[in-house]
Amino acid sequence: MRSMMEQEKLHDECGVFGIYAPGTNLADICYLALYALQHRGQESAGIAIFQDDRFQLYKNTGLVSEVFNEKTLSSIKCEGNIALAHCRYPAEKEAEATIVDAQPMVFNYLNGLIGMTYNGSLVNYDDLRYNLALRGSVFQTNSDCELMMNLIASYAQDDLPGALAKVMLDAKGAYAIVAMMEDKLVGMRDPHGIRPLCLGKLDGHFMLASESCAIDAVGGELVRDIAPGEIVVIDKDGFKSYGPYGKQPHFCIFEHIYIARPDSTFDGVNVYLARHHMGKILARESNIDADIVIPVPDSGVPCALGYSEESGLPYRMGLLKNRYIGRTFIQPTQIMRDKSVHLKLNPIKETLQGKRVVVVDDSLVRGTTSRQIISMLREAGAIEVHLVLGSPPVKFGCPYGIDTKPSQLIAVKQTKEQICEYIGADSLHYLSIEGMLQATRQDPNHFCTACFSGEYIVKPCPFQNKK
Ligand code: SF4
Repeated sequence: MRSMMEQEKLHDECGVFGIYAPGTNLADICYLALYALQHRGQESAGIAIFQDDRFQLYKNTGLVSEVFNEKTLSSIKCEGNIALAHCRYPAEKEAEATIVDAQPMVFNYLNGLIGMTYNGSLVNYDDLRYNLALRGSVFQTNSDCELMMNLIASYAQDDLPGALAKVMLDAKGAYAIVAMMEDKLVGMRDPHGIRPLCLGKLDGHFMLASESCAIDAVGGELVRDIAPGEIVVIDKDGFKSYGPYGKQPHFCIFEHIYIARPDSTFDGVNVYLARHHMGKILARESNIDADIVIPVPDSGVPCALGYSEESGLPYRMGLLKNRYIGRTFIQPTQIMRDKSVHLKLNPIKETLQGKRVVVVDDSLVRGTTSRQIISMLREAGAIEVHLVLGSPPVKFGCPYGIDTKPSQLIAVKQTKEQICEYIGADSLHYLSIEGMLQATRQDPNHFCTACFSGEYIVKPCPFQNKK
């Protein structure tokens, strides 16, 4: 179960990783990469390695540290050439985390064994599934991963890159796929590049990962991002690229706001620097008369540092995060649920007493935690609390793999003034859409901003997931 604080954030639904490296300890590399990608999915984790004519596969529900220990890791240590790893949140249409839905998923189709990992969400899932089922496909799960595999199998007369190019025409939405067959590692990114996928190298061997932090974690080097609509194949002959069959890029701006790790880089833009710049622009846009700037740790830290630098207000730690509360913290009663924010964040009274405080967070989803934090800051002696957010109001759902429920978004139902009153702040400031895009120092058209603007590049099907 997600804690109240976790429910306050938008979540990605998966981290993917794959490596082609004969003669390497693939299980250990995958384990390190999964640790680096843990923030992208905490409900299940798995590693698959191709050896001889079968997969060594271990996956289960839980954190990477819960799924893998010396015993489970050694059960998949083998002399393989290719490996996949995955960590996951269940998508809205999927069941709660179960081992059946965990990835990598392994299939046997006309052309042999194939392992699949997937990140994203298809907006025409229901249509595709219905048409596949009419032609005889059967499904064990509601996952996009399984559906994609059935689509690939429906083009089994083609080689894998050819089949994937056809799948790309059918599948609408956002996805990054890393798959492997007996002799090759394959990657594919959706035509708008909404979900991330990058290419790295380790001792001359190629890797694919959702974020560059996973490539860093295994000691590799980032080569480049996979282009929107690009299909890549890595085998004994090296690296081959097909396409790209892409369109105008629309990379998810929320990766830069909250989802990705600050040490990751997308299209040459480091996430920490983008967030830092968002804080600077936010300081110029909000221009608050105050005494100190504090972050909501950890996600508000880069933005608060930028805010402090630009405004000249001193940066202070006003809230201390308890690093030892894991996701397993039990919240069986309302009292424990109410107190969980206090357990996770504790105010430092000596920093706050008598101060007019600017508190910086990355985004506002439901407002419940912000309300508790502001009340906590006032109790600790702050005389004014101004909440500034490193993103515009989140007003629309995301059909592309980020867990948003419009019914839970406070900015859908309430005006800025009503939200300010509800959370108990002296003032509330959002980063403008223009400021957010400017902070990335990239072409503004490069990004998806649909959860702020309602402008969907791939239109969501109104009846999706309603069957
Ligand atoms: S709608 Fe928002 S969260 Fe979803 S892909 Fe676009 S920017 Fe990212």
